[in-house]
Amino acid sequence: MSFANDLLTWYDANARTLPWRGERDPYRIWLSEIMLQQTQTQTVKGYYARFLERFPDVFALAAADEESVLKLWEGLGYYSRARNLHAAAKAVANGRDGAFPTDAAGLRQLPGIGPYAANAIASIAYGEPVPALDGNQARVLSRVLAWEEALRTPFDLLEPATGLISRERPGDYNQALMDLGASVCLPKRPHCGDCPVAAHCEALKEEAQEDFPHKSAPVPKKEEDWSILLVFAGDKLLAHRRPKGLLGGLYEFAAVPGHFDRAELSDALTRQGFGGVRILDRLPDARHVFTHRVWRMRGWTASCESFPEDFLPVDSGALAALPFPSALRVYRGIAEELIRG
Ligand code: SF4
Repeated sequence: MSFANDLLTWYDANARTLPWRGERDPYRIWLSEIMLQQTQTQTVKGYYARFLERFPDVFALAAADEESVLKLWEGLGYYSRARNLHAAAKAVANGRDGAFPTDAAGLRQLPGIGPYAANAIASIAYGEPVPALDGNQARVLSRVLAWEEALRTPFDLLEPATGLISRERPGDYNQALMDLGASVCLPKRPHCGDCPVAAHCEALKEEAQEDFPHKSAPVPKKEEDWSILLVFAGDKLLAHRRPKGLLGGLYEFAAVPGHFDRAELSDALTRQGFGGVRILDRLPDARHVFTHRVWRMRGWTASCESFPEDFLPVDSGALAALPFPSALRVYRGIAEELIRG
């Protein structure tokens, strides 16, 4: 039997039960694939259900305002995914009368749909035989092929992966490889004894499973110091909507790049347009690791008599309704306690 047939026979008996499995609606497949990027399957299930309840089709999502989309996304991280999701929904609903492109090349033209998601959606929704190469697929295939070259991206395996994919059931094949990577061909100690494609696996023959994939040297993360300031104007706390870019559209507190003493922080806030600033108490430090950078945060409380017009004074109800990034979870929690008094 071929690699694809062995894999599909196993999948037919062992497929994971997931809310988006068996789905043919490209809107739902697209939503699940975007949510699953960088996020655990278990976490996605709840978000997927809540999203579909609120936005049952692409027209409902396109008609929503960005803030309510980000609020529903809160906690999933990688917020550019949510903004792109919204932009793509508008493009499909308003520019294409609700119809998604029906092949991977067309899907890649939509915001936020990269080669992986395009291939996953095209294969599952439309049966196009294109491999959905993510880290899991790349791990399995690099072992099956004993791929000697260092992988910069999973798509370095595009050519051999395209040669292996099932022409009859490409969507199931891609999902089968996802399941195999998630439950059998694990990064450490793969369960080769239970593996349906063991007979095809070159790494197993060499007893070198965990040597693959060969990875290029990781790029070191950039470390950034920030001072995060919970600034009060009377009994209201000041929040600010981030412009486009990292975490764009989400809210934040006053912030100064770098770690400073009280006098320096007061000067920095004054330069940002705050008036009558008093730096009050030190708060705990916090740290957040993004894909390519690390924020080392030092927190403070402060008060002011006037503030720039792009800051919003909020009470505890308004604070709870605003979407904040997970990076600020610690300070948001402290802010909620302080504002409740
Ligand atoms: S035999 Fe082992 S290493 Fe090879 S694909 Fe199966 S689980 Fe992965």
